[in-house]
Amino acid sequence: MPQRQKIVLVGQLTLFPWVFEAAERAGIDLVLVPRGDDTVENARRAKAVVEVLPLDIDGDPAAALAALVARYRQEPFDGIMAGNEKVVPFVAHAARTLGLTGISEDAAAVVRDKRSMRRLLRDAGLQTPGFVELDGPDRWTDALPLRFPVVVKPANGYSSLGVIRVDDKDRLEEAVGNTWKLVEANLRQAGEPAGEAGVLVEEYLDGPEVSAESLVHGGRVRVCAVSWKGELTGPYFEESTLRAPARLPAEVLAAIEAEVIGAHHAFGITEGTTHTELRLVGGIRPVLLEMGARIGGGGAMHYVTHASSGIDLAAEALRIHLGREPECWSREPEPAGHSAFYLVPVGPGGRFVRVRGLEEIEADPRVDYVVRSAAPGTLLRPYPDWTGYPALVLSHHESDAAAAEFRDHLARTLHVEYEEQS
Ligand code: ADP
Ligand code: CA
Repeated sequence: MPQRQKIVLVGQLTLFPWVFEAAERAGIDLVLVPRGDDTVENARRAKAVVEVLPLDIDGDPAAALAALVARYRQEPFDGIMAGNEKVVPFVAHAARTLGLTGISEDAAAVVRDKRSMRRLLRDAGLQTPGFVELDGPDRWTDALPLRFPVVVKPANGYSSLGVIRVDDKDRLEEAVGNTWKLVEANLRQAGEPAGEAGVLVEEYLDGPEVSAESLVHGGRVRVCAVSWKGELTGPYFEESTLRAPARLPAEVLAAIEAEVIGAHHAFGITEGTTHTELRLVGGIRPVLLEMGARIGGGGAMHYVTHASSGIDLAAEALRIHLGREPECWSREPEPAGHSAFYLVPVGPGGRFVRVRGLEEIEADPRVDYVVRSAAPGTLLRPYPDWTGYPALVLSHHESDAAAAEFRDHLARTLHVEYEEQS
């Protein structure tokens, strides 16, 4: 028997089981670096975890890297993989330091900054809307020459926090001010200059949204699944649902693939897995919104991909980060069917009590996972702010129509209960 391989998984929330289950399926052992808001007890209990290695990556990245190197010297591990967006640069740095498979630190910095992504897409001749970078709230007038409507957003945000559509030039100053406040409160690292955290204003891309999950190994990209997110018109962009495979004409799918593959090359993303969001302008012309060098949705996009294309995305990602070729490079998996991902909307927000109707949904044979992602008593703030989702529902279906119908059923039957305001 060859020895089992061991990979360091950094900051993967244990509430989301997919990567842990994939490691178990693939016979890979995990050394888990718990996310700051997770507990060591949860980390110990997670599937495939043989060791827990707490590191203060946020607070002291240099000490965290030194501790990781010391751990490697004690007994080498075979790879390292990011379990969330924020740790992508740290993981790239660690991989280079230890000589393990990963993306370059430059590429990691690119995909953490929407300004860099926009510049590189433009320079590579790929589709991109007009955009303006602001390094202070007073600079909002720089964006007036853009074609309105525009979207104001943090340069390195997540979950549509602080993303605001603006239709009139008269409302731009106010929107930039609001987004800037949210950046200061949520996204700016201690000691970071204001310009680093920055705000981007870009032209509104009118059309439905899709997401593409890819694997990349030695610079070769495979788009494994394209999911349909549908029409999100704003002014705030709370994500609530997607389903795969997206029902689109072959030429639109081919155009999406070309744009996604081109973006990997432009950004220098050569190893691992990515989550790319695009808009289909006029329903046909794909334009990239952003790319993350990790599994999307905290791992949920593994499920969406696996349950539709048959590709075991998370296991393949782990293999790539162990320096191995993904199995789907040489063996074509059977397409599995249709999958759906539903995020229970926050709605008006407040002090969270529970999601009514979730027990019934959990018992439905089409439902494979229900994740209660907010603890009772948590204050959930409404968009354009963001603190968390109440719950996630992942399901499989026989057709796209059945998946869409189930989404409507969830929207009708699930209700978020908040404490009464006194
Ligand atoms: P985040 O990192 O917060 O997810 P995104 O750039 O993905 O930031 O923006 C969040 C959402 O806002 C997108 O999924 C999309 O629905 C909407 N959005 C962002 N930029 C644009 C744009 N230029 N045109 C249309 N919609 C946009
Ligand atoms: Ca996004």
